Amino acid sequence: MTESIGSATAAPMMDIGTVTTPVTSVQDLSKAYYLTNVRLETGFVEEKRAWLDSPVITHTRTALKTLRIADGRIAEVLDATSVVPPGAAAYDAQGQLMLPTFRDMHIHLDKTFYGGPWEATLPTQHGRADRVAQEREVLPKLLPLAEEHTAAMVRLMHSHGTTVCRSHCNVDPVSRLGNLEHLKASLERFKDTLDAAIIVFPQHGLLASDSVGLMREALQSGGVSYVGGVDPTSFDHAMEKSVDTTVQLALDFNVGIDIHVHEPRETAIPAFNRIMDHMEKNKQLQGNVTFSHAYSLAELSKEELNDIAARMKALGVTLASAVPLGKGTMPLRELHEAGVMVICGTDSVMDWWDSFGNCDILQKAHEIARLEYRSTEYDINRTLGFATGFVTPLNDKGEQVWPKAGDEASFNLLPASCSAEAVARLPVRNAVFHRGKLVYGAVPKAS
Ligand SMILES: [Zn+2]
Repeated sequence: MTESIGSATAAPMMDIGTVTTPVTSVQDLSKAYYLTNVRLETGFVEEKRAWLDSPVITHTRTALKTLRIADGRIAEVLDATSVVPPGAAAYDAQGQLMLPTFRDMHIHLDKTFYGGPWEATLPTQHGRADRVAQEREVLPKLLPLAEEHTAAMVRLMHSHGTTVCRSHCNVDPVSRLGNLEHLKASLERFKDTLDAAIIVFPQHGLLASDSVGLMREALQSGGVSYVGGVDPTSFDHAMEKSVDTTVQLALDFNVGIDIHVHEPRETAIPAFNRIMDHMEKNKQLQGNVTFSHAYSLAELSKEELNDIAARMKALGVTLASAVPLGKGTMPLRELHEAGVMVICGTDSVMDWWDSFGNCDILQKAHEIARLEYRSTEYDINRTLGFATGFVTPLNDKGEQVWPKAGDEASFNLLPASCSAEAVARLPVRNAVFHRGKLVYGAVPKAS
């Protein structure tokens, strides 16, 4: 029982040589330890093919390394042949690939059926009004179970390799600040294993549900990083006043903005531009505003998209997407290549808005790869960044840029030979580390 460290629930490993099945329960690693046989990407392999005029990238080169981890950081990256000092704590990554931790940057951790019995969404007669009506009924019933449900979602995130997230949290006339209080308490329980930022979210409409006072109370209570919002025209029926009030809240409490906009281009684009007008006047907002979903960007011509992307880039607007399938494909690649920061999230795991979320952000990169990229080694490799905040082992030129000594030791170990295989095949996450601490899975002791 002392030969490995981690959880007996870790999924069986595959493909990578002989792997010891871990048997112990989750426990702390030492503050300083060695991790041997870690597979790191070192570059691309370019080869000539008879039917092609010039060499092409066919594979990704990797090397086995030993890492020394101390005080939550990668202290040293050593050759695999380096001798671990006698008596030092050492664990064996068994040749598995190391990837940076995944980031779930749009999730609603405060409200879910997940953690309880299965519930699919109900059909609607009046669109989102029915979802809000259901929400009014369900929120008070769920509040006593909320911490348990949030904990189940965090464990699901951990099991998929995510240790950084940004969560919306309802502030509305039904739950008032109840969801926020429970979410703060829940996240406090996970403060050593999950970096989480909170967005206070007037789900029933900032103006439509007369929630400005509640939002002020929520922001006053502290621990909040962003003012949220939803559809200034279709929810609040007063785009300019809704946007201006949201911006004023952000300025008054010196926080960012992360606003849901599901509206069509006719109303969404003017709202985006009004927010960006405010950003031009208020430098403190620059680099601290996120447009969530923004489906309208999929309706734009190439030229229109280029124009708004240039403005978003100049002002540091981030685009958050749950990567919708079956609608107009979101131009996430185009936005990324235009220099806009693109982040991905689960949104709902299992609630009255959606039934499909699974907290697997690597799967979001996989979906973006399938929707917008070619299935080549290089293109699939490049999509990993959508899951990792664009912290990637290789840069666009194929130079190794991660991990370096001094980087935070937040990473996954997976049974894959390279990033492209990981994105394409979605292997299990066998060991998940946050700041040097094992938060899910297992690694055996090095022999
Ligand atoms: Zn959302």
